[in-house]
Amino acid sequence: MKINNTLTKKKENFNPSDSKTVRMYVCGPTVYNLIHIGNARVYVFFDVVRRYFEHSGYSVKYVSNFTDIDDKIIKRANEEGISFNEVARKYEEEFLKDIDALGLKHADLTPRATEYVNEMIEMIGGLIKKGYAYEAGGDVYFSVEKFPSYGKLSGRSPEEMRAGERVEPSKYKRDPLDFALWKGAKPGEPYWDSPFGPGRPGWHIECSVMSVKLLGFGFDIHGGGQDLIFPHHENEIAQAEAYYGKEPFVRYWMHNGLLTVRSEKMAKSLGNIILLRDALKFYGPDVLKLFYLSTHYRSPLDYSQERIKELEKALKRVLETRKRLAGTGEKTKEITSETGKRLEQKRIWLENEFERAMSDDFNTAKAVAAIFEFIKEVNSALDQASDSLDVSVIKRSKETIDKLLGVLGVDLIRFEEFLQKRIENSKDDILMKLRGTAAYFGIEGDDLEDLILKLIELRNKERRQKNFHRADEIRNKLSSIGVILEDTPQGTRYKIEGA
Ligand SMILES: [Zn+2]
Repeated sequence: MKINNTLTKKKENFNPSDSKTVRMYVCGPTVYNLIHIGNARVYVFFDVVRRYFEHSGYSVKYVSNFTDIDDKIIKRANEEGISFNEVARKYEEEFLKDIDALGLKHADLTPRATEYVNEMIEMIGGLIKKGYAYEAGGDVYFSVEKFPSYGKLSGRSPEEMRAGERVEPSKYKRDPLDFALWKGAKPGEPYWDSPFGPGRPGWHIECSVMSVKLLGFGFDIHGGGQDLIFPHHENEIAQAEAYYGKEPFVRYWMHNGLLTVRSEKMAKSLGNIILLRDALKFYGPDVLKLFYLSTHYRSPLDYSQERIKELEKALKRVLETRKRLAGTGEKTKEITSETGKRLEQKRIWLENEFERAMSDDFNTAKAVAAIFEFIKEVNSALDQASDSLDVSVIKRSKETIDKLLGVLGVDLIRFEEFLQKRIENSKDDILMKLRGTAAYFGIEGDDLEDLILKLIELRNKERRQKNFHRADEIRNKLSSIGVILEDTPQGTRYKIEGA
């Protein structure tokens, strides 16, 4: 098992420190809004990391936090006229709904920052005592120059880091790179009492405290998006290693690339945000997950409807093939044909190729491609010799497909249900619009088929009376809401787009 470690900038052999359990921490959301499809990439990827470790025989202890106190949460609370707590709980709940809709497993532990404030105060006090931190103007700052290996994760020089956009300015800092461990309360803000005065913890200290508390110092994997490498993760390292006086705080750092829209970051200010739940409505969880996973996790991923639609087609092929396999085999006995042998060889190849890809720094893109390649082989085998295939070959092929899709968190039964539901929804949607169209032509009703037939009848009447303009208008209005009319020698038929 090899993992690309951001800290060493190398692919390294991975062994969990206690050989059986993988201890993993992934930075969770700041709960003040609904997550978009860019935010979701990290959770989808690390869900697969966890599943693959479990598939490989490890047990996994997965911790992912909620940042439930933050400037953005306070701002949202003031806008909505509710407490910061209410904002945090509301968006925590919405986040979990989205995670469930994606079919991701929950983390084993989901600590909230506000539940660990005492531990944070303790760590901040310790850092002051050891000379790594100083109080100024009611705040407490970490003094970056006291921690000589600062910058080892991001590989940036202090000059580069000082120029970084994510360095918050403050008149109390001795060095612009110093960062807040404790923020003194401004009037009207929520606060906790502390030896350094009333205030609240900074964002970075939260993750140092909660990860070590729940996983122990020197845990195995810390994950997050590449945008967190600096300053967030750099600061987590500085705080934890300075406080405990040893290293490494984390053995393997893993960072996923970001999702872009036309090569730009997804951001409210750019107006290009697509909420996860909106994307789920159109594509469902399984196709969306394949979209994330069919690009290497460390590469940037550009949002593309075309690509998602291609993957939907590909997954439909997998579904159809899986059904073909389910309908084959019972009538055949122990006939081992050449085709069957070839299929079995390809299946063994898939199992190996999948392991090779996933154990090489979680190359899900290669793993997905291998599954699609096997599906092609299954179809050609079934085309050639569906009645002379060995039942055991069929059975093993089904099991392999289900097992490997499961490691990627893709579920064909859920996918099929989603497709059916989407057709139902599109019918509901069309019915709503159809009522308007029908009313325009003086027709009323509540039944989709009945309304369409009445409109077809009206169109035929108009045609007989040579009111071709009116007849075309009916046809065009129906077409614009997704009801397509086809004139055949047997009469006019209709079909509903997308169904
Ligand atoms: Zn974090």
